[in-house]
Amino acid sequence: MKAAVFHEKGAPIAVEEVEVADPGEGEVRIAIQSAGLCHSDISAINGTYAMPMPMVIGHEGAGIVESVGPGVRSVKEGDRVVLSTLANCGHCPACDTGHPTLCYEPPGPRKPFTFRGEPAFQFANASSFSEQTVVPESSAIKVPKEIPMAQAALIGCGIITGVGAVLNRAKVDAGDTMAVFGAGGIGLNIIQGGVLAGATKIIAVDLLPSTLEWANEFGATHIVDGRDGDAVEKVKELTGGRGVTHAFEAVGHVKAIEQALDSLAPGGTMTIVGVTGLGVKAEFVANALRLDKAIQGCRYGTARPHSDFPMLAELYLAGRLKIDELITRHYALDDINTAIEDLENGELARGVFDIAS
Ligand SMILES: [Zn+2]
Ligand SMILES: [Zn+2]
Repeated sequence: MKAAVFHEKGAPIAVEEVEVADPGEGEVRIAIQSAGLCHSDISAINGTYAMPMPMVIGHEGAGIVESVGPGVRSVKEGDRVVLSTLANCGHCPACDTGHPTLCYEPPGPRKPFTFRGEPAFQFANASSFSEQTVVPESSAIKVPKEIPMAQAALIGCGIITGVGAVLNRAKVDAGDTMAVFGAGGIGLNIIQGGVLAGATKIIAVDLLPSTLEWANEFGATHIVDGRDGDAVEKVKELTGGRGVTHAFEAVGHVKAIEQALDSLAPGGTMTIVGVTGLGVKAEFVANALRLDKAIQGCRYGTARPHSDFPMLAELYLAGRLKIDELITRHYALDDINTAIEDLENGELARGVFDIAS
């Protein structure tokens, strides 16, 4: 079968012939139908994250269960599933109390592929840029069959990361106010999470006019062009001088993190969703936190995939979650390098690979 393989740092990704294993005990083999391209795929390829090689890339995806190994009970052949990138053990104190993103002993990297005679690694428990993949049962989340596969694919990273940060981590209440720094693929989902939560003001801050236009479409009540004066001042002006109850940072830039913190009202919380480089430091005035302000991180939307993914699919089917509008362009898997270029040029909210129809 064909898969996009990362086997040389800095080299263009090539779609290559790869073998995939049979599903073992507790594993599921999936025929991938659609896969979304996310910034984390680029970070893996360009060395921002240290990645083992060779590796089949892609982590946002949806497909049809092709076969299941012994002991699999939650899905069967023909089910439509969304890939969860979460590796968790299912029985440690964190998993047991409903916090699988904080698992004490997440299982290590898997190698279900063979490339040029050598075992090849799986990326983020998923490897969605591939005609088939084999994942643990806990990563194959069944969703209603009515949701189209391209739309379903996006639930597994971009949507859960953004909407989950608002609903699961920040727990925004109706009547709260929000500022979102960075309105790309993740930021747009933070914005629509705010709409679902009933935030009264949702202020999007970005540097790209095209992105700010998308922010409007996804429910931002105000947009702030970060190139045009002091973004923090603008957020304060829009909230009667007080600031927002929730600020979200969605790009992993130090300046945006500092601005998000400065935008908080007394009692406000900043949630950092963006991923900064390893060891990157941000500065803040410690005394400012005295007014009951808080800083928190958020990994993978603090997801509980088995309850969150079907819920997000239902919200889409009910017309209350925008996914069609997130998909800027469709590509064939062979056009992966063009898609990567388009994403880097800021042309895509999401690009989706049609892997099978
Ligand atoms: Zn992602
Ligand atoms: Zn665990």
